[in-house]
Amino acid sequence: MSATVLEGKFYAAQIKEGIKKDISVLKNKHGITPGLAVIIVGENPASKVYVASKHRSCEEIGIYSEVIELPADVSKEILLAKIAQLNNNDQIHGILVQLPLPDHIKENEAEILNSIDPNKDVDGFHPVNVGKLSIGEEHLVPCTPYGCVKMLELAGIDIEGKNAVIIGRSNIVGKPMFNLLLSRNATVTVCHSRSKDLASITKQADILIAAVGKPHFVTSDMVKPGAVVIDVGINRIAEKKLVGDVDFEQVKQVAGAITPVPGGVGLLTIAMLLHNTVKAACLIHNVTITN
Ligand code: NAD
Repeated sequence: MSATVLEGKFYAAQIKEGIKKDISVLKNKHGITPGLAVIIVGENPASKVYVASKHRSCEEIGIYSEVIELPADVSKEILLAKIAQLNNNDQIHGILVQLPLPDHIKENEAEILNSIDPNKDVDGFHPVNVGKLSIGEEHLVPCTPYGCVKMLELAGIDIEGKNAVIIGRSNIVGKPMFNLLLSRNATVTVCHSRSKDLASITKQADILIAAVGKPHFVTSDMVKPGAVVIDVGINRIAEKKLVGDVDFEQVKQVAGAITPVPGGVGLLTIAMLLHNTVKAACLIHNVTITN
């Protein structure tokens, strides 16, 4: 048996169709153009690619997009002043600081992210939004786990009552994923680097989410036959070769459904960023949207 491959492009396109409709209502009925500002500090090549892709996606869908490039040696004070300016800029509804930050301000990361207005925090990393998610209020939700859950929903995969196992407990993927699945009534287990006998836990999963950051970490002997396997990992193993955390070729022989890398949930991350930007515009202007 070979698993159904859940193609990110297909689901991202569906999400974007909904967003386009919302943008058109916002523009034509309310005179609002949603706006996103992305701050990038320094010259990290991967970050530059991600930021360019976010900018392009905004332009394609009709979101105003500003990329603010700051030099690698920028001070924390200048960065905070820039964020304060954007917090007060009526044209901007979403603010994102591309991570990682350069070493000299890495220790200030929390202070920097927390200075973003929670209503403009389209990454969903602000403690206010983290807290809301933990009490089941989905205000602005971190894009990657949100995209995974949206994909499950669009694929018609039932979450309620299922055993979901997440490998990874990061603030940007594992923990918000826990809350999203829990509030959809799954029984959720979170595993991490200190978990014992991982395979015995992952084999219980009806839905297995891998967010580890290790190539081919999940092998077929760790997967229950018929399980849905969502691969969040992005690992560069050669100049032009990206792989996930799941050994795709092996696991697709066992799983019921599986996401590829590349071409899987990564594409939904950007779609959810666009969604969050439109949602932030609606929240700020007190407009109700459909999606
Ligand atoms: P992270 O390094 O912050 O967290 C990794 C987690 O894996 C940790 O919680 C750790 O406890 C766990 N872990 C490590 N070794 C383990 C082991 N042997 N057994 C069990 N658990 C173990 O990483 P992250 O930021 O959560 O990202 C995870 C992966 O997802 C990375 O490959 C990253 O590039 C990718 N990612 C993709 C997107 C996207 O848009 N698709 C977004 C964010 C992250």
